[in-house]
Amino acid sequence: MLRSAHFASLLSLTLLAVVLPAHAQDYAPLDTPLKIEQVPGAPIYYTIGHPGVPSHANEGHTSNAGFVVTSKGVVVFDALGTPSLGWALLQEIRKRTTEPIRYNVLSHYHADHIYGLQAFRDHTGTVIIAQDRAREYKEENDETNEERSSQRLDQRREALAPWVNKETRVVPPDITFSDRLTLTLGTHDFQMVYAGPAHSASDMMMLVQPEGVLFAGDIVQNGRIPFMNADDVSTTQWLKALAEVEKLNPRFIIPGHGKPSAAAKEAIAFTRDYIQYVRAAMGAAVESWIDFDIAYRKTDWSKYKDMPAFDANNRGNAYRIFIELEGTQFNGPKR
Ligand SMILES: [Zn+2]
Repeated sequence: MLRSAHFASLLSLTLLAVVLPAHAQDYAPLDTPLKIEQVPGAPIYYTIGHPGVPSHANEGHTSNAGFVVTSKGVVVFDALGTPSLGWALLQEIRKRTTEPIRYNVLSHYHADHIYGLQAFRDHTGTVIIAQDRAREYKEENDETNEERSSQRLDQRREALAPWVNKETRVVPPDITFSDRLTLTLGTHDFQMVYAGPAHSASDMMMLVQPEGVLFAGDIVQNGRIPFMNADDVSTTQWLKALAEVEKLNPRFIIPGHGKPSAAAKEAIAFTRDYIQYVRAAMGAAVESWIDFDIAYRKTDWSKYKDMPAFDANNRGNAYRIFIELEGTQFNGPKR
């Protein structure tokens, strides 16, 4: 049962009846099989990605994804970063249940979470759900979206060949929602909550009840420097979203990257501390009219510099936060 969703594309729903036969050879094989873990005592499963940025060594498996098996079908959360990984996830689900895949819910539209969707689209009757702003992310549209999706696809075709190749495509959502959407399947409720624009324009989280398991997407990243260098990133909104996670008080959190945790406070502490640290350093520089380059050089990064994805993300993050805080200083309420 769906509440308050709008069905933006009836056509794509009617196309769902066309399910292609499954051929493993459609997808370049992975060297490392997916490792699936289970939330203790619950029909909820997940796989944890490698730390760091997508590379040949990690075969593009850098994000987390999971699935919930109910008596009325399976709900999948996120789809991993290549069609091969999506296919592997689908095979892992098939090992555990014969229930049909009913929904793929996407934490946000970024390459490392959505390229696996194509395996679900082509080989199951799934319905893809995301937040409204996920529609801004289009393969053919470079103008408005944050990640420059076609450039990203070109980059991944090089960095992640053969798993991302010329057949790889961005699969758009079938259903989107604005603030909240609750879905009931069997005895399970899936409460989806918009949490953006924080890490991206379309961030959302999904609380699975009655177990109280939260799929937090990239709002929560445990033990890895998050990517924040995009137009739509708002660390102010991100901190609010982390407060929302605390309020939901989940019993178990599966973050978008990094280890799961049974302690909500602990799981959000890393991301919150990092955002606050960079904001404090860059905020002081903005207040004193210090140049970004000088401020960046003078900041003590020793606490974070050995963490995964530091080299790829930290400088861009600091710059983005510098700009964000400069904006609040000049446009915000008078102090
Ligand atoms: Zn991510």
